[in-house]
Formats: sequence, C-alpha cells, structure tokens
Amino acid sequence: MTTLSVIEPATEQVLREVPRAGVEETDAAVAAAKAAFPAWRDVAPGDRATLLRRLADHLEAHHEELSLLEARDAGKPITSARGEIGMVIATFRYYVGAPERLLGDTIPVAGGIAMTFREPLGVVGLITPWNFPLAIASWKMAPALAAGNTIVLKPAELTPLTAMRFAELALEAGIPEGVVNVVVGPGRTCGQRLVEHPDVAKIAFTGSTAVGSSIAAEAAGTIKRVTLELGGKSANIVFADADVRAAALAAPGAVFDNAGQDCCARSRILVQESAVDEFLEHMEGAVQAIRVGDPLDPATTMGPLISAGQRETVSSFVPDGAPVAIRGQAPDGPGFWFPPTVLSPVDPGDRAAVDEIFGPVACVIPFSDEAHAIRLANDTIYGLSGSVWTGDGARGLRVARAMEAGNLSINSNSSVRVTTPFGGFKQSGYGRELGPHATDAYTDVKTVYYRTQED
Ligand code: NAD
Repeated sequence: MTTLSVIEPATEQVLREVPRAGVEETDAAVAAAKAAFPAWRDVAPGDRATLLRRLADHLEAHHEELSLLEARDAGKPITSARGEIGMVIATFRYYVGAPERLLGDTIPVAGGIAMTFREPLGVVGLITPWNFPLAIASWKMAPALAAGNTIVLKPAELTPLTAMRFAELALEAGIPEGVVNVVVGPGRTCGQRLVEHPDVAKIAFTGSTAVGSSIAAEAAGTIKRVTLELGGKSANIVFADADVRAAALAAPGAVFDNAGQDCCARSRILVQESAVDEFLEHMEGAVQAIRVGDPLDPATTMGPLISAGQRETVSSFVPDGAPVAIRGQAPDGPGFWFPPTVLSPVDPGDRAAVDEIFGPVACVIPFSDEAHAIRLANDTIYGLSGSVWTGDGARGLRVARAMEAGNLSINSNSSVRVTTPFGGFKQSGYGRELGPHATDAYTDVKTVYYRTQED
C-alpha cells in the first residue's frame, strides 16, 4: 500500500500520512464483513441494542478527541465540530431502540396466516463526502448496524481520520471484529469496487449528483439497493410580510455555515422586490460579524475551504465584475480561505444562481409575488431543502408544500434532525436517512405464509 497525505485546510500542512487502500484492501474488507454477517444478524435484538448503547457511550467519552480531529481534518470551527460529533452520538443513541422495533405484520389469508419480517441485507457499502465526515457516516452506520447488517465505510479521502478512529472505538466498545470496516482510498478504486462487488448488497451514498448518477448506473449491474443523498441549490424565500430583519440575520448562517460546503446551503436567497434594500442592510452586519479564521479558536465561526481545488472552483463564481453586494473578511497567508460573499442582484439564469457552488457565495434574487417565488424556487434540477419566511402562516405552509424539495422550514433555516426523515427530491437523490424509518433502507421485507388449515 502507498500512503495518502491528509492535508489540514487551515495550514496547508500534512496532518497525517495514512495507508492508501486499493481494490485488494476493499475486497478484504468486504470479505471480513461477509464473514461477520451471520453472527451479527443473529445477535438477539436486545443484545445488539446494548452494544450500540455501549458504542454511543464510548463515543461520548471521546467527544472532544473526535471533535478536534474533525476540526483539523475538515477545517471546521471547533464549536461546529463539537456539535457534529454530538449529533453522531445522538444518532447512535436514537437507533439503540431500533433492533427491538423491527416490527412486521401478520396478514390473514385463506388457509392460514402470512407474516412479514424485515431482514437485514448483508454487507452494506457506505460512501461518504468530506463536508460532514463522521456525522453523515453515522446517519448510515447506526441504522445499518441496528438492522443487523455489517458495513464497509469508505470515507472521503480528504477527511478519513474520524472514520478510522471510529473503527477503533467500535471494537473497543465491543462491536465484534468484522462488523465495522473502514477502507481509506480513492473513490475511483475503493468506492467503485464497493459498487461493483457482488457480495455488497447495498450502497448508501452521499456526495455529488454526478458521482451518484454513475453509482446508480453501475449498481444496476448487480441489482444493488442504492440510496443517494446528492447535491443541492436550495432556495430561501423571504416575503415582504416577514420579519425581514430576522430573516436577514439568519440568512448568513444558512449559507456560510461550514464555509458554504453544505448540501442544504440556502444559496439562492429569493427576496420580494420591496424588501430587498432592508434585507441587505440587515444582512451586511451579520456577514461582517462572521469570524473567519483558525478552526481551533472557539471564537471562529467559519473556517477555510477544504482544498486549493475547491477554492479555485468557488472563486470562478465570483469573477471580476460580479455584482458583489457584501464581502466579509478572510485571513491572508496559508490556508484555503475565502470570504463570505453575497452577490446581488443576480439573474436567475446566471451560473452562480444555477450551479451548486459549495462555498461561501450567496445569490440574492428579487421576485415579484408568490407565484413568481415558487417558480424561481423550483427552477432547478435539485430539490434538497429550503426555507420560507413570511408573517402569513397559511402562505408559509402553502409555499412549503409547493416547493419541490425534501426538507423545508418556515421562519427558520433548520432542516436536519436525528428524529426526522432527511433526503432529496429530483436530482438531490432518493431514499431517506434519519428518523424512525431509516432502518427500512437497510432491510428487505420477507413474507412467510404459515398454513394452519387442516386437510
Ligand atoms: P463526491 O461525489 O466527489 O465524493 C463523495 C464520495 O464518493 C467520496 O468518498 C469519493 O471518494 C467517492 N467517489 C468518488 N467517485 C466515485 C466513484 N466513481 N465510485 C464510487 N465512489 C466514488 O462528493 P464530495 O465532493 O466529497 O462532496 C460534495 C458533494 O456532496 C456536494 O455535491 C454535496 O451537495 C453533496 N452532499 C450531499 C449531502 C446530502 O445529504 N444530500 C450531504 C453532504 C454532501
């Protein structure tokens, strides 16, 4: 095995050299997961719950260690990293209840009774991105394990450190050898191998729409189950009848959090024409208050971008002459820094308003009335999340129902909770993670007929 250099985005220095896995190591991980599956499937539900609870407790004991690792590896503010690792722990705690709640039906039929079981799939391949490394992995790992599957996790090669540490912690917590496997290597080798491997029953993928599309096509070869959490270009609709100040103060957090590298980023801010000036006035102060800098400083609210390549891509959306209405601060020197930037007014057809930028660049797009706002919001290939700000409750619900997206909020920008389903419409993907039904995505329904009638 050669090595892979993990770069710290805030310093551009090598944080760690890790062994780089290839096809051979991926096959070995799948073989280990396959060997561990029968015993893990047969662990009594209550015992599996106990093991998951122990794992959650062990993760909690390592909360700060994992947070620091994530902050340095992904370049995210330590306060955000602590919140994300907190969500990892909460996700495992939530699915502790799942093994004992994999309920089936009994269905009366002629001559006897039919009953259904939710059976685990076997070996599940999990392929994850670099923006919320361990959090997104936990959304897949916890329900997959709770349902009795064994897993092979392939984290993004830019941010593998918390996944590697997780595998060690899982063993220490008593999860049997072979149940949790992590392979660190490129998508084109390790990821692709998982997708084509005949012993992998399902791929749960989070990442770009382009890669998701190729995974769906290749998985068809072995009729693998696939769930896809893909890109977004979400709309934040602000009506003039809203508390415009509240909407403007909240808007920067909804797009510049995680330096804009957030699939749910509300990067298209649609503001009713008569409220645009007031909105920008309030937003200016909130953008200037963003503290961009050292991720390990507790006062920092925004870190660097993940890589030099990402910064180059993001920069291309703010060429000379772009309508920059607000530009925040960013440090000089080493680190992949980019200031929070608001473009206004932006034509809905502009590249910055159409493509997922995945960086701290927001577009303000004026609209005339409700129908216009809905048309603009839905004029995208994506459908992940979005917000509606209005003082009219009926309008809020009406517009949220009309928006073609999976996760919406009214007078708020929050869309992800451990306890509620999360996922996309349109080219933002299919399948749902989190919430009470996530184990459905990691089980198949089996029907058994039991003849009770005497001859
Ligand atoms: P990416 O698609 O480049 O990579 C994601 C993962 O797929 C990585 O682990 C990568 O190594 C692997 N991969 C790459 N090519 C592959 C291949 N041919 N076969 C198998 N695996 C392969 O995405 P990224 O740049 O890491 O993440 C950013 C994207 O993820 C954005 O589009 C963002 O919107 C999306 N995302 C979506 C969600 C969501 O829940 N919908 C959440 C976070 C990020």
